[in-house]
Amino acid sequence: MNGKAPLSETFGSITFNRQAMMKHLSKAVYQKLRDVIDNEEKLDEQIADEVAHGMKEWALTLGATHFCHWFQPQRGVTAEKHDSFLAFDEQGAPIERFSGRQLIQSEPDASSFPSGGMRSTFEARGYTAWDPTSPAFVLQSGRAATLVIPSVYLSWTGEVLDMKTPLLRALKAVEERAFRVLKLFGNRTAKNVRVTIGPEQEYFLISKDFFNRRPDLIYCGRTLFGAASAKQQQMEDHYFGSINPKALDFMADLDAALFERGIPAKTRHNEVAPNQFELAPIFETANLAIDHNLQVMEIMRQTAEKHGFALLLHEKPFAGINGSGKHMNFSMSDSDGRNLFEPGTAPKKNVQFLVFLAAILAGVDKYGGLLRAAVAEAGNDHRLGANEAPPAIMSLYLGGYLDRLLNEIEKGSFDKMEAPEAMSHELLKSLPSIALDNADRNRTSPIAFTGNKFEFRAVGSSQSIAEPAIAMCLAVAYGLDRLLERLEKFEGKVADIAPKALSVVRDVVKETKRIRFEGNGYSPEWHKEAAKRGLPNAKNTPEALETFVQKDVVELYTKYGVLSKDELHAKHEIKLETYVKLKEIELRQLRELAVTCVAPALARHMNSYGQASALIGGSKVLKARLSEYGALMEEVYRTTGVTDEVLAKSLAEPSLEKRAKLLASKGVEALEGMRSACDRIEEVVDQQLWPLPKYREMLFLL
Ligand code: ADP
Ligand code: MG
Repeated sequence: MNGKAPLSETFGSITFNRQAMMKHLSKAVYQKLRDVIDNEEKLDEQIADEVAHGMKEWALTLGATHFCHWFQPQRGVTAEKHDSFLAFDEQGAPIERFSGRQLIQSEPDASSFPSGGMRSTFEARGYTAWDPTSPAFVLQSGRAATLVIPSVYLSWTGEVLDMKTPLLRALKAVEERAFRVLKLFGNRTAKNVRVTIGPEQEYFLISKDFFNRRPDLIYCGRTLFGAASAKQQQMEDHYFGSINPKALDFMADLDAALFERGIPAKTRHNEVAPNQFELAPIFETANLAIDHNLQVMEIMRQTAEKHGFALLLHEKPFAGINGSGKHMNFSMSDSDGRNLFEPGTAPKKNVQFLVFLAAILAGVDKYGGLLRAAVAEAGNDHRLGANEAPPAIMSLYLGGYLDRLLNEIEKGSFDKMEAPEAMSHELLKSLPSIALDNADRNRTSPIAFTGNKFEFRAVGSSQSIAEPAIAMCLAVAYGLDRLLERLEKFEGKVADIAPKALSVVRDVVKETKRIRFEGNGYSPEWHKEAAKRGLPNAKNTPEALETFVQKDVVELYTKYGVLSKDELHAKHEIKLETYVKLKEIELRQLRELAVTCVAPALARHMNSYGQASALIGGSKVLKARLSEYGALMEEVYRTTGVTDEVLAKSLAEPSLEKRAKLLASKGVEALEGMRSACDRIEEVVDQQLWPLPKYREMLFLL
């Protein structure tokens, strides 16, 4: 793919990056565009024609024939529609043309994208608009090369139809408030604050050949049944193990493709489950990090295909072994490169840090339910609350030192507190000493402070991070407002804001105690304790989604101008509808497999045992087996019968909300019922007669 060229040379080579801009734009236009990108200044439409022309000239050098606006509708992950550069000059000769107008705006038909009832189909006009802060790139796929322009997507009447628009607005809300805090603390050099995000992406690879023979994987992304194999992940020998050479080859190609796109892939390793892996990039500003993660998922899929693998991004492709998540590492930094969540060596003296910490406390305390809702999707229901993933209860883990520090602040006695112990280990004289994070790991916490950033671990592996990032930004913006309200009164009136700030932090620490939890988030005691503390604990997607239309949340989104009440209701509806469709597909798919694959395999198996039994005549063992098989057959048809009833009820239910709830309770039960019958049958049927790849093949053979 990238031959042997050093990665520093190929990095970003198919993006319209600084170098490409300098080469294809005049100095003046280049400078104006940089101002738009770096300082988020408004785009001067006068320069659009020249930028478009330069971009096209650059794209032609990479063989592009088409361009497209690339956007993020609310369902599915990304969307694109391609147009060729073809135009004709005055003499009628074919030329390539790309105008400023085409760069800035395009008009895909919006009729088939979900709008949650906000737009009737006859008014299907939606348009996309260029987001200059995310670099354009050339998408090379097979024989096609296309200039791709990252865009927002709006309806003609201005309603939000995508994920990027609200993200950009939420970022603005929190960044602007964080900047005010810096000013309060006397910072005169920073020009702005930016949210930074680093998403760690988990995934499975399986052989494409197995994948193609599992309709449940093809249509639902997960195995709807499959008996556990004898060896699963109990030896824990996969985690950080040496990487299978075939998987490593895939990773090498993947990284090369990511580098060309200017996506800063950093870490690759085996995860806990067999055939499960992780990719972590170097963090970037939020908008870019999210666009890049969306591209990562797509490039992974294509690269897997080339290597004869199928990529599984589902949150729980295999029951009984670890699912996949996407840890969203979240921080903020100022334009001088200072990380605002960096406690430094003396956190207790760093009052500005404590203010930001208090803002997170206040935000999560008030909007924990929203953070849960932001990661609510059918696939993630298998993970949240199950034993290897964070619980559905949103709490914060700060680590021993900070937790004690906050307790001391609360008591007003933190002056006496020691600075954290020396943060390094001398291992052996000959080895360098190792700096330790001042927070231990607590894998059971959904939101953990990890030294200089927060890690939100509840995000699903297949999700766009935009939704949780929006929720997190708004929660923090709300928290910052609570602090700013009490602090800005003193602006210019006191020589040193720190003592005042500390007393405000102290109030917030007292008010938000309930969301701090340092213990085991998986334990039943925590569930009881959390209920006592009044923390929300939505058990499934439809329940969690209600939060989007609660009064407090509507207030939050409207106050910061991110989404209107109608847009939130539309979001709720789109997400419920997605849930309903997905669950119904799963029910139908498993029913079909049970009836057309599993039951017939059992019948063939019974037939051969029946013949054997007849040959021997009166074998007790065989007779017992046959009656056991008979009972299993009954069970398959009993459970598919239950499924038919649930599906009929669901179809007849006019309320989308009730329908989703029915599927989350009775529907999930029906799926489990069929699954249990199928799994038991898989465990007894003659291997020669079994029609589908098993867990032990899919998980261990690549
Ligand atoms: P950890 O071991 O704590 O998970 P790593 O250094 O491996 O930490 O980082 C994990 C992820 O967190 C990476 O994607 C990294 O880029 C990201 N990350 C690190 N610092 C920040 C930050 N300040 N803001 C956002 N993400 C960050
Ligand atoms: Mg991590």
